[in-house]
Amino acid sequence: MRAHPAEYDLVAPGSLPAVLSLLAAEPGAWLPIAGGTDVMVQYSAGKLPARKLVSIWNLPELRQIDVLPGEIRIGSGCTYTDLREHGVVNREFSLLSSAASCTGSIANQNRGTLGGNIVNASPAADSLPALLVYDAELILISARGERRVPYSDFHLDYRKTQLARDELIRTVCLKRQFSRYYAHARKIGARNAQAIAKVCLAALGQCPDGVIEDVRLAMGSVAPVPLRLSQTEHTLKGKPINPSTIQSASEAASVEVRPIDDLRSTSRYRATVAGNLVADFLQRLRTANTNEVSAVLARWNNLPTNEAADEILPCCGSKAWARTMAIRRPISNGSALLVASNEIWRALSESDWMEAFRSHPRIGESPSASSSAQSATWSGQEQQKVTAADDDVKTALARANREYEQRFRRIFIVCASGKSPHEILRILQRRLGNDDTTELHESAEQQRQITQIRLKKWLSS
Ligand SMILES: Cc1cc2nc3c(=O)[nH]c(=O)nc-3n(C[C@H](O)[C@H](O)[C@H](O)COP(=O)(O)OP(=O)(O)OC[C@H]3O[C@@H](n4cnc5c(N)ncnc54)[C@H](O)[C@@H]3O)c2cc1C
Repeated sequence: MRAHPAEYDLVAPGSLPAVLSLLAAEPGAWLPIAGGTDVMVQYSAGKLPARKLVSIWNLPELRQIDVLPGEIRIGSGCTYTDLREHGVVNREFSLLSSAASCTGSIANQNRGTLGGNIVNASPAADSLPALLVYDAELILISARGERRVPYSDFHLDYRKTQLARDELIRTVCLKRQFSRYYAHARKIGARNAQAIAKVCLAALGQCPDGVIEDVRLAMGSVAPVPLRLSQTEHTLKGKPINPSTIQSASEAASVEVRPIDDLRSTSRYRATVAGNLVADFLQRLRTANTNEVSAVLARWNNLPTNEAADEILPCCGSKAWARTMAIRRPISNGSALLVASNEIWRALSESDWMEAFRSHPRIGESPSASSSAQSATWSGQEQQKVTAADDDVKTALARANREYEQRFRRIFIVCASGKSPHEILRILQRRLGNDDTTELHESAEQQRQITQIRLKKWLSS
């Protein structure tokens, strides 16, 4: 039974050393509360493991993201919104930003933290498979000092971790070595949003010349802890990617997972879905890397430069980008194409970026007559959810668009794919508060993401 609120203590010392002293003085007596999205559910169910709560919400020491040359260090108190909106996380650790985007509602993403997700230790948690495939390391801190541990060793059993009773997670460290991998995340739930995963997958792969050089697979909801599929990975490394390899890996994954029956699903369903998700990922990896795609690339590689630039232009909208891509040919595979695009985009001038921005219709509006047919089709697909939005959201978007254009003298650019109209409106309103330089770079990052998505569509056209 839930105790009366008066029987709980909640303190907010306001600094990391003060929190650590409190935990050291009475180990286990104080329960840290970050965003509270799990703690408050436990409180309502009368299942809080302690009566004394110490707030670590918004402690500056836990809310930073430090980008170092070799690794990125994410404070455990960073929210899903912090992750979703961070340029380097988006660019280099897309599995983490996509997990953040599919976690709960926007309100949940504004409040829930990465550290809370790790310590809550639900096997269904969305961000944990991503941490496994990126070989994350955790910095744990207490009044006794710091220790750095591999994340893969952190979960001991169902909801049991190696965190000591006086310790906090301070930082999640990710090596910056995965930007050239093909990344794919998939969450199977009762609905697209606000559902606990029946099965979720985070996967990375590198497959130059059709041979699997490295592959990393991790799943949620298929074992007592988030699971790295090491045996399945082992069967794949060094193999050519073909239907028989994909079939064997799919079977290996179904066997390797250890799911249970519960309210949301059966173990048989989960094992089958696990195999299907691995097969789907490998099929995509194959498409992104092998000769099948090279049919599009091979044809494009052989076009005269002007024609090659014209064909690829709708993916971005900048003529300088398209021309440089065409000059960069021959490009051997899908991954190399995506990497080249990023490099070329970042090296362009501000006026080239502006040209790309101008090629888009306003959010919520139809493409202009001057847009190419291909660009207009893609814009329509990207803005599908906005087109179907309620009139009041459309009106609010139109108003915010006007304000944005008065403030920055250009169109608002956002990678709209997969985002709800409310989410886009919220991003637009937040970005109205940016200074000019920050906003220019945010727009460029969004355009980079749009280009990546369009290139993938073009490759599979
Ligand atoms: C409506 C709703 C929808 C949700 N949807 C999803 C979803 O789709 N996917 C998903 O994965 N999760 C989901 N969750 C769960 C939850 O939002 C996440 O697990 C979130 O990341 C928890 O973070 P928090 O900061 O709110 O944790 P809190 O509730 O503050 O804390 C959770 C646990 O972690 C401990 N803790 C927190 N931070 C630290 C730290 N730095 N060091 C040591 N211990 C710490 C706390 O003591 C507590 O035991 C949902 C929750 C709700 C209420």
